[in-house]
Amino acid sequence: MSEPVTYPPITENDDFISDALREASIPALMGSLSHLRGDLTIWGHGFSPSASPFGPIDLDGMTEEQRELVRAEAVKALAAYRDRGSPTVEPLDGETLLTVARLVIGNAAPDAFLPMLLADSGIDDSAIAPRPWSERERQKAADFAVLIVGAGMSGILMAIRMAQAGIPYTIIEKNAEVGGTWLVNSYPGCRCDVPNFFYSYSFEQRPDWSHQFCERDDILAYFQELARTYGVLDKIEFGSEVTEAVWQEHDSTWRIAVARSDGTVTTKVANAFIPAVGQLSRPKTPALAGAAAFRGVTCHTGAYDRSLDFAGKRVAVVGTGASGIQAIPEIAAKASHLFVVQRSAHWLLPSPNHQAEVPSGQKWLLKHVPHYARWYRARYASRALYGLKVVAKIDPSWPHQERSVSAANDQVRERLIDHLKSELSDRPDLLEKVVPKYPPFATRILPNDGSYLRALKRDTTELVVGEIASLDEDGIVMADGRHLDVDIILYATGFQSSQFLQPMRIVGRGGEALHDYWGQDARAYLGITVPKFPNLFMVFGPGTAVFNVIFLAECNSRYIMDAVQGMIESDLVSIECRQAVYDEYVDRYRQEANALAIATPGVSSWYKSASGNVVSNLPFDVPDYWNWTRKIRFEDFHVAPNGETSSTNAVATGRG
Ligand code: NAP
Repeated sequence: MSEPVTYPPITENDDFISDALREASIPALMGSLSHLRGDLTIWGHGFSPSASPFGPIDLDGMTEEQRELVRAEAVKALAAYRDRGSPTVEPLDGETLLTVARLVIGNAAPDAFLPMLLADSGIDDSAIAPRPWSERERQKAADFAVLIVGAGMSGILMAIRMAQAGIPYTIIEKNAEVGGTWLVNSYPGCRCDVPNFFYSYSFEQRPDWSHQFCERDDILAYFQELARTYGVLDKIEFGSEVTEAVWQEHDSTWRIAVARSDGTVTTKVANAFIPAVGQLSRPKTPALAGAAAFRGVTCHTGAYDRSLDFAGKRVAVVGTGASGIQAIPEIAAKASHLFVVQRSAHWLLPSPNHQAEVPSGQKWLLKHVPHYARWYRARYASRALYGLKVVAKIDPSWPHQERSVSAANDQVRERLIDHLKSELSDRPDLLEKVVPKYPPFATRILPNDGSYLRALKRDTTELVVGEIASLDEDGIVMADGRHLDVDIILYATGFQSSQFLQPMRIVGRGGEALHDYWGQDARAYLGITVPKFPNLFMVFGPGTAVFNVIFLAECNSRYIMDAVQGMIESDLVSIECRQAVYDEYVDRYRQEANALAIATPGVSSWYKSASGNVVSNLPFDVPDYWNWTRKIRFEDFHVAPNGETSSTNAVATGRG
């Protein structure tokens, strides 16, 4: 935040403050002290925190003596701040702020990351200030119609931004409530695997999350509350699906067919069409021979039925990805017998406080200590957006590609295996099965506090490794002939992630269907826009997945808002990505993606399409992407001013 800020006043005595500081993240606290004192003196002791991409986020590489010294200085500074009546905190000058940022994150990322981290944490968001927008433009905006598909995290975000700019919008949502993935993934144990102090909108941070990694209900409540307070709920047509969208050349609009749950179909007209349906919204259930014969109950984690009761039942959970490892401990505690059906093992990231509540002292600090929560977020962000990529890059000269992609990746592998060994020292039979046979980061690495491995060790749990051949009346037949006799099968088998925007039929300029244009591999310039599909903007589209998709959706929404506001400002009826810009981007995308562990041949993951190519993830350096999406470059587009159609204006009129 580049503006002065006021925090809830501190009224507590020195002893209370001192006790709360026992739970402080020292790097974040040092960031706060820089603001409280308005200088860099807290960094003058000759020590500063380090950062590690692994282990608890609070690891800071400092000695207890050094931490004590920081805490003692913090008690004095906070008491003085309290005694002055908890005044407004003035911003630090630009250079000082960059120095503090560098030190707080433990020099863990290049300087190019710093403006991005400062903006995302809300410490200085001047770099992402929206396009200046006058009353006259607001009035013009009243005639522009936007249709958003999906009322999940990214649809709500898009709606909030449209409302703030005074641009009329409608949301079409297939479910009966808002929340998207957090609505339908209500399986037992479902919680965020990104800390909520980072997994939350940058402009709606919460100091009072109950856990670092909150349960699904808390996260759903967050989105529901925001949809209510920003007036988004009134703009949503629930129980409705977009089945088809067709570009109209003659008036540069999208004609959009909406099928309602009551069977009626209506047509909407929009100037901008914004699918915000995510990559993980359509559950993927294996098509197994004999499925119809099974007499028990089947369910998918991504379309979960909360009335399911596992108590005393024989259960199989199929899949050991992010959803499976969260559900398995809960179900193992209730089922009379649990089969965990594992086709491939996944790498687990030790995350000891994964289910721990945020302690009360820490909660107090997050709420009252100026900028403490923001620095806390910046530290998380640096780790998730930079630290993890460093160890995922392929070193082509590394000789052990079958197990790791580089020396750094190999070190991580050793540490992850050490963790598995320490948890399973008493169960060598399990250890052999749970060590993945591919490099770390080829699939999503899964934070876990050990509860998954403990669940596997229960007497009533069996880890079954192999392929499923079919189902029969009584359960699962494995390819090796084993029969798993069960009452309930819970599929934790992921989503149709690479089939972007399916099952909508989207027809662009010249009658081209989007899925024909794409073939097997969906692509988009910046993950947002595609030639021949003017005024179509995707949120969380192809090639955009990063560890925190809220961060990504904010990049997308910024770009889309700049595009739409720029169109309104300049009286443009359509903008269409230039083919050459798209082709060049897609080429670079392929090269960058193929340089990362996610491209490891022979490893299946939701990152890849049926062709085996990576289509889901963002492979570029995140600050580059953040910069590319801060403002639209109209020279990347064919633009058509009012009075012309896109086809009459294939040549750029260009706007910088
Ligand atoms: P996933 O990562 O795609 O995992 C699917 C699992 O099902 C894999 O173990 C897969 O095995 C297995 N599988 C698929 N088809 C199978 C079949 N026919 N027979 C046997 N096993 C089969 O899906 P997910 O666990 O739902 O997670 C998807 C993504 O959702 C995550 O990566 C994450 O981004 C997100 N997510 C986030 C959270 C959160 O807390 N924020 C929680 C859950 C999910 P193979 O590995 O052999 O293919």
